[in-house]
Amino acid sequence: MTERTTVELAPPQVAPRARVQAMKEYHPPLGCRDALRLDFNENTVACSPKVREVLSRISAGSLTRYPERQPVEAIVAAHLGLAPSQVALTNGVDEAIHVIFETFLEEGDELLLPVPTYTMYEVYASATDARAIAVQAADDLRFPFERLLAAITPRTKVIAIANPNSPSGSAATRTQLLGIAARAPQAVLLVDEAYFHFHGETVIDQVGVIPNLIVARTFSKAYGLAGLRLGLLAGPVELMSWVKRVLSPYSVNSLALACLPSALEDTAYLDWYVTEVLAARTEFEAALDEAGVRRWPSCANFVLVEIGAQHKEFARLMSAAGVLVRDRSSDPGCDGRVRITIGTRAQMRQAAVALHEVLTVLNRNGGSR
Ligand code: PMP
Repeated sequence: MTERTTVELAPPQVAPRARVQAMKEYHPPLGCRDALRLDFNENTVACSPKVREVLSRISAGSLTRYPERQPVEAIVAAHLGLAPSQVALTNGVDEAIHVIFETFLEEGDELLLPVPTYTMYEVYASATDARAIAVQAADDLRFPFERLLAAITPRTKVIAIANPNSPSGSAATRTQLLGIAARAPQAVLLVDEAYFHFHGETVIDQVGVIPNLIVARTFSKAYGLAGLRLGLLAGPVELMSWVKRVLSPYSVNSLALACLPSALEDTAYLDWYVTEVLAARTEFEAALDEAGVRRWPSCANFVLVEIGAQHKEFARLMSAAGVLVRDRSSDPGCDGRVRITIGTRAQMRQAAVALHEVLTVLNRNGGSR
């Protein structure tokens, strides 16, 4: 193959939409991650061995076909006790969020976002003509229920709630979520249950009962399939039929579709991983308390901690010690705070050792963290 050097002779005369020009670039720090990955809330071990078996049997010939999602949607629906017409598979929950916003948000509409929360809501909202309204949590970072209710207007069209939320780890109660859905019947209530398995509470049983509720789930966290990009939406048939008009029929690839039934079936693997993470979280929280590090209570596979002014240096030194963590300082109301994913007990003991070493260095260097 000959190599071609690209020379741009003239600047393009084509401009993107004004909304796109105003969008901020977002580059999650995914480079150089050959270390203990406590930065993206992924599964820190592997997916189920049953899924690996499926992957090893995939033939080259099967890749020549376009993926057919409907049979697998039927399997997922049965697993969740729903009808296939209430379920859509997506290329991760990220695509699900994007598609929901594209389906429902137009100029003059308002999107309500309790913040701090998952970054991609804001990113995708900024590509629409709707107005994103941030509802700030108090310093305890608990779900700002009363403030959210007060922010609902006739223009509210989508309310997106990650439950449990990231990076705070806090959760809204079922009563709060159902109260919000009832208070805003003109809006879609998107409950993003990406971290459901670590929390155990869900409103998915209310899908089809509550006319404006859509629930999202991902296979990127407990299931350990972030690289396959697999998520799902579950909602009332009518809302889902609009969503499916916008969703690409091919966006979930055939490897992901082939793996999904085995991922769902292997509940023993999922139970093992979740039990391990919850045990590790308890241990690691005790280590944080012992070290005098302020932390927020977590319903998920991560914990948010207060490092203070030296947050950048903390993340850098942890990385140098082989443990990747995520500085969340630029999130609203999170100055000086760092999020640490919870892995296995063995991994978190390694993280606790690194934490102690790094805090010792920081205390020696600067005093006030
Ligand atoms: N929702 C929340 C709350 C998340 O934290 C994340 C990932 N960090 C996602 C959705 C994205 O999930 P996926 O990998 O399925 O796109």
